[in-house]
Amino acid sequence: MTAPDVRVGFIGLGTMGAPMATNIAKRGGFDLSVYDIDERVTRDVAEAAGARGAGSAAELADRDVIVTMLPTSAVVAEALLDPRGRSRIPAAQGAVFVDMSSSDPVETRATGAALEGNGYRLVDAPVSGARTRAESGTLTIMLGADDEAAAATAIPVIEAMSERIFRTGGLGTGHAMKALNNFAAATSFVATAEALVAARRFGLDPAVAVEIMNTSTGQSFNTLKVFPDHVIGGQYATGFALPLLTKDVRIAQSLEAATGHDSPVCDAVVQALEAALDALGNVDHSRAYEFWDRR
Ligand code: NAD
Repeated sequence: MTAPDVRVGFIGLGTMGAPMATNIAKRGGFDLSVYDIDERVTRDVAEAAGARGAGSAAELADRDVIVTMLPTSAVVAEALLDPRGRSRIPAAQGAVFVDMSSSDPVETRATGAALEGNGYRLVDAPVSGARTRAESGTLTIMLGADDEAAAATAIPVIEAMSERIFRTGGLGTGHAMKALNNFAAATSFVATAEALVAARRFGLDPAVAVEIMNTSTGQSFNTLKVFPDHVIGGQYATGFALPLLTKDVRIAQSLEAATGHDSPVCDAVVQALEAALDALGNVDHSRAYEFWDRR
């Protein structure tokens, strides 16, 4: 007799969630139901992945593991809990929730406590690597959990999305690490953009400047990928939205405040991103370069 399939629910089928859910379906050994607030997206992803499409999050009540890949902590809490802290998804006792969104670690702990009050367990497992690595199943995943049994239940599902899993510590540590990584990445993005604006205004070709940085010490993920593939030719299609990057650096800023040390660099990066966000709204984050260049 073979083991029954683990019943997995997946909420949030956007840029990242769609390919991540598809990889769970491809792995086999899982009975997958997917849900997005956008009905058309639910239908399309369910059909492409060979999964069941749910009409609401509450329909995922028969799932053993429920994954969220949503924009913010507030959206995650709203999707999972009613205003009185009761679960919107009447799952079986002991069900494991896995928040793979880039959420605020302090809010993650609050949501975890509320879910625990309903008899459920929460682990955090945010990812890095954009859509391409979500598609190829090579994301970096940071797993935080207070409960080892819950982590052990979540791991086979997470492994369907990538085997590059780092166990970071207790609940919220994955989300803390993710925000700090994105703060470092955003800093290099803002600093490189600032350097390239100055380069261009002084008569240098930004494309050549990026090539020089890539064989010099200014090299980073941004100079290797973001600027040559998305900024220099004006494609602006990294798939990572400006509001999401700004949210991540704000999370890092409040995390730094909570640890009681000054954050002058983080403060400056937040300010630069917020100015671009105010002017541009919901655009690809790489487009911020254009805004800073025009100012
Ligand atoms: P996205 O906006 O493309 O997708 C979010 C999806 O959630 C959308 O399809 C939306 O309809 C759905 N949704 C919103 N509210 C919902 C609700 N209440 N119930 C069900 N579905 C709901 O965002 P994304 O780029 O896929 O990012 C998701 C998370 O992953 C974010 O926290 C982001 O910061 C993080 N992240 C993004 C990237 C990237 O490159 N895009 C990389 C790593 C991590």
